[in-house]
Amino acid sequence: MLASIVIPIYNEETNLNELAGRLLKTIHSELSEWQVEVLLINDGSFDSSFSIMKELAEKNSMFKLINLSRNFGHQLAISAGMDLAVGDVCIVMDGDLQDPPETIPELIKRWREGYEIVYAVRNKRDGESWFKLLTAKAFYRILKRITNVEIPVDTGDFRLIDRKVLEVIKKMPEKHRFIRGMVAWSGFKSCPVYYHREKRFAGTTKFTLGKMVQFSLNGITSFSTYPLKLASTFGLFVSLVGFLYLIYVIYLALFTNKTVEGWASMMVVVLFLGGVQLLSLGIIGEYVGRINEEVKKRPNYIISEKVNF
Ligand code: UDP
Ligand code: MG
Repeated sequence: MLASIVIPIYNEETNLNELAGRLLKTIHSELSEWQVEVLLINDGSFDSSFSIMKELAEKNSMFKLINLSRNFGHQLAISAGMDLAVGDVCIVMDGDLQDPPETIPELIKRWREGYEIVYAVRNKRDGESWFKLLTAKAFYRILKRITNVEIPVDTGDFRLIDRKVLEVIKKMPEKHRFIRGMVAWSGFKSCPVYYHREKRFAGTTKFTLGKMVQFSLNGITSFSTYPLKLASTFGLFVSLVGFLYLIYVIYLALFTNKTVEGWASMMVVVLFLGGVQLLSLGIIGEYVGRINEEVKKRPNYIISEKVNF
């Protein structure tokens, strides 16, 4: 049996050797009956990551390197690795040791029991800001409500997938990828494995607030058109309120000698509706922009060099 381990690397020079050490230790002690390939994808690092990767690959042909021509982002780096993985199972994990390699044997154990997707669920998270924890929690719960795919809560991309699932993912050409959603969407038999998410071994997170927002929007727009419907629901509500108010105004004009206050109420309505309209346009824009980028059909990533393939 062959296992492919896919790890995206973006400026992880301080983690690579430790990562390789812990991986090899786990592989030697617990996966001795397995053949393993470790696909390291260099996602345009500008530190010494790639030269460290080359040293690793030279010493041990288990490490296969994919060097992307520039930074394409976490999800596309993972996709590059998945496209070239040849294993019976494919395991995706981060390169900063937040996803402990020691969990891999357990993922494989559940796969042996017949599960085609084994996703790692963080039951405890160290060293993350309360802001990240809170926004992540809120995001996954909102996503669950507005999409019709069951994306497991509190999971990242750390998971094992069977060859069958991998083939499905490879047939999905979309550029704005939300891989954890795509895997869930495939609908194969899945089960969780719980693990303790430690803080990153060294270095700092590569996910800025901007990237996190983009990623969340990709998740929502790839799996739900709910935000588009929001505009019409809200429009209906506002029309109804407007109609009731109209009746009230006519009543005042016909049956009383009071008049409706003008300036203030006009301003409130104009500003409020202006805001809502711009917001709705923005929501439509998010979808249209993505359509534009998808129809260009450019390659999702560009490989400049492969080592040990
Ligand atoms: N990563 C990548 N390309 C990027 C950003 C991140 O390949 O543009 C890699 C990074 O090297 C790490 C993994 O994706 O192996 C997860 O990134 P990070 O630990 O910064 O994310 P966090 O755990 O903070 O969400
Ligand atoms: Mg991390």
